[in-house]
Amino acid sequence: MTNPCPQCGAVFADPASTCEEQFDKLLALDHSRVQPWGSRHGLAFSTFALQHPDGRTAAQLAACWVMLYRVWIEGDNRAKLAASMRSQQNLSPEEWGVPSLPKAPPALTRYAVTIADLGEFDSETYAVKLEEWGRATLAAWMAAP
Ligand SMILES: [Zn+2]
Repeated sequence: MTNPCPQCGAVFADPASTCEEQFDKLLALDHSRVQPWGSRHGLAFSTFALQHPDGRTAAQLAACWVMLYRVWIEGDNRAKLAASMRSQQNLSPEEWGVPSLPKAPPALTRYAVTIADLGEFDSETYAVKLEEWGRATLAAWMAAP
């Protein structure tokens, strides 16, 4: 049994694993541009960033919030959204038609789904698990006082 991640609460079966290491593996898959990972990079990045907000600016977190909210709550097409967010980087959540960024969940929040639950990002289950991970992240942010 290892200590949970102080930011997202993830616990790994392998005590040598960390969130950052697992995210590095996922980024390598994303950047290979192979599916199902490549086209979902923005969602994976946004989810990881919101669960690990330390050292990120409010503007960075707001962009992640817009991405997850528009895709999982509003049902936006992720590729079109990512393209329009790249071309208009300074819009606020309100300008994207999304509620403003809530206050970050308190320290030691344990998300219902963490990167540990995504295992080794198996191609068969990745799309479903990514959605569960993203929705759990939104739920915790939306529930924060
Ligand atoms: Zn973590």
